Amino acid sequence: MKNTLRKILIRLGVYKLIALILKKNRDFPIWENLEIDIQSSCNRDCEFCPRFSDRTGVRKDKQGNQIITKMPTEKVYNLIAQASKLGFKGKIKLHRLSESLLDKRYVEFAKYIKSKGLRLLENSNGDVLKKNEVLCTQLDGLIEHLTIGLYDYKNEDEKQAEIAYWRSKFHKTQLIFSLPPENCTIRQGSKVYTEVIKNPKALDLPCTQPNRMMLIRYDGNVSLCCEDDGCHFDLGNAFEQTLQELWWSHKHIKIAKTLAKPGGRHKFARCSRCYNGQERINLLKTRREN
Ligand code: SF4
Repeated sequence: MKNTLRKILIRLGVYKLIALILKKNRDFPIWENLEIDIQSSCNRDCEFCPRFSDRTGVRKDKQGNQIITKMPTEKVYNLIAQASKLGFKGKIKLHRLSESLLDKRYVEFAKYIKSKGLRLLENSNGDVLKKNEVLCTQLDGLIEHLTIGLYDYKNEDEKQAEIAYWRSKFHKTQLIFSLPPENCTIRQGSKVYTEVIKNPKALDLPCTQPNRMMLIRYDGNVSLCCEDDGCHFDLGNAFEQTLQELWWSHKHIKIAKTLAKPGGRHKFARCSRCYNGQERINLLKTRREN
């Protein structure tokens, strides 16, 4: 009798837990994009990138030297497995403010993501790929969408030549080209942020990034959005808590819901200086005019 009662209570507890998860999922659905920063560094130092001015020890030390470290392999696998167990079927990227293809483990992680039925998308400056034909072949089709940053062209002919080069290397992966010289987002920490004229109306825009993105830095700390590489919102650490606990924490949901409303940016110091929703800047044109 005692045992039967215990079993019923346990079962009720499990049902309650399932009901709670389903309710949370309805009110605040699981992220659309998961980014896992498998390593910290980048071989470039671009003026439009938020890591440009960092001296906090996250991307660069006080002297401006790069921080070079990796997320432990078992942590990367664990995060991917957790996402899969939660029923996530969306997009995964293996970088944050870093060049993920510098990491020799990339292909093994990519294969694991594919084996879990998840979609691998990636951004790269292309430099590693240019020196490694074998890697291009290995990744062709393994990565669903690859966004290649074209950073060096000076005119239309050079841009088209670069695009043709990349199209000759990838046949199954869909290629997208990111063109910061003509289409630059204004991001805190970048050199560009301090130089261009910003539109104050952008500060009144709602922001839905925190509703859509689960971003894990190489040390496990959670960023609220692409502009929060410093993890300023203290949302927890994925090496200490589960993805489920982090995403559906009261704190995260409250911040995300506040920012999803117009004017929400003014409630948080970092967001009150964030112009990433404003129209993009054409740096080539701006510099020609000046
Ligand atoms: S408004 Fe805040 S949450 Fe949105 S991108 Fe900017 S810093 Fe991130």
